[in-house]
Amino acid sequence: MAEKQITCCKCIDHGWKTYEEPIYTDAHENKYCLFHAPVDQKKCGNGKPMPKKLFKNFVFQYIEKRHDASKNLLCNISGTVFPDDIDFSAHYSKDKRLENISLQHAVFSGKAKFEGLTIKGLVLANAKIYGEANFKGVVFEDDPGLDHLTFRSRAYFEKAEFQKGCCFTGSIFEKVAWFSECIFSGTMVFHSIKASRNALRMHKLTKDSLSFVLFPSLEAHQFSFKECPDWPDDFGFENEEKTSKLTLEELYRALKQKAVEEHDQPQVSRWHYREKLMQLKQLLGAKTPESLSLLETVENDSFCVWHHAYQWLRLACMWPHDKWRALTWWYWWASGFGERPRRAGIVLLLLLAPVLAIFLSAELCPVQTFWGRVLAMLQHLMFVTNPKAAPNMPFLAFVVVLLTRILIPLQFTLFALAVRNRFRR
Ligand SMILES: [Zn+2]
Repeated sequence: MAEKQITCCKCIDHGWKTYEEPIYTDAHENKYCLFHAPVDQKKCGNGKPMPKKLFKNFVFQYIEKRHDASKNLLCNISGTVFPDDIDFSAHYSKDKRLENISLQHAVFSGKAKFEGLTIKGLVLANAKIYGEANFKGVVFEDDPGLDHLTFRSRAYFEKAEFQKGCCFTGSIFEKVAWFSECIFSGTMVFHSIKASRNALRMHKLTKDSLSFVLFPSLEAHQFSFKECPDWPDDFGFENEEKTSKLTLEELYRALKQKAVEEHDQPQVSRWHYREKLMQLKQLLGAKTPESLSLLETVENDSFCVWHHAYQWLRLACMWPHDKWRALTWWYWWASGFGERPRRAGIVLLLLLAPVLAIFLSAELCPVQTFWGRVLAMLQHLMFVTNPKAAPNMPFLAFVVVLLTRILIPLQFTLFALAVRNRFRR
């Protein structure tokens, strides 16, 4: 009973298995051991302030002892207050491995260095790191507990490898966090995080790594993607059933908006296309799920032009036909949302073909020679007020007016828009 009264309050809170003698009592009669005592209250047995280096050695000795005693199972030093920089890289420089340490709720008053280590079983949830956090080149063999972590200074994860992904839910990045050239091989969740605009620098990431980055539309402004040469088709977890197309549409719209504000035209194009594609998927998916897989085939660039065209027509002919009433469908079908000049050009040629056929083979009034027919056709296409000749048959005359006055000018506008977008961006 008497022993219970003199137990460190933080040791109880964090479920320490060992008994640590209190060395400090605060104004509320709470007692603290050497690990949990505030920075200015860490004292040696003689009452003098403990040298910072001595405290570090004390901590590392404790870890080694616990690992020996528990056969390398989890060593719980949660809630520890580090008064100064702590360099795990230097301490574990021999085999470069750090395993099974719980540092939950720890307070790092200085820098925390884990650079170059291979880490397994590290928990840093709810910890606060006041100095720079250095995880450069770290290989995380499992999902490290980095949620609800506060980075008060810069965080470096450059060239780190997250083999099983990581969940940063609830973490706060007060300064910039560098994730350049990281390798992500599992889901990287950035949900409910706090960071300033462009603070999370996801630079030089590969297509595969990008496909694992997950964040909601509200947090899009916190990310900066630069020098990423290739982008995955399923960014933002398009393949995940639980992620709705509407959520993805909102995410892409947020990314587009951010790119517009930063005048990053290639990114505007990319996100505009994907945003509209999600709208189209919602439209088609609500009708028939098969049309979605056809749409995927049409969007897959690895097929040849003819296979594309064939799948495109199959999708167009697929029942129900009420998709033709939707503007989004037309926008995609005729110009790839104003982003695919080749497609828009082919559709333009398809619309010109019947006009050419009519003027070269149908009966014209008045009768024309070959070059007279060509001239009349050009006059119709160029909006000349009194063309030289017109088809004699009223139905063909109607088709010519419909095509040359409405459809071709509309398609030409879409084609010009797509060309402009391609070359402006
Ligand atoms: Zn304690």
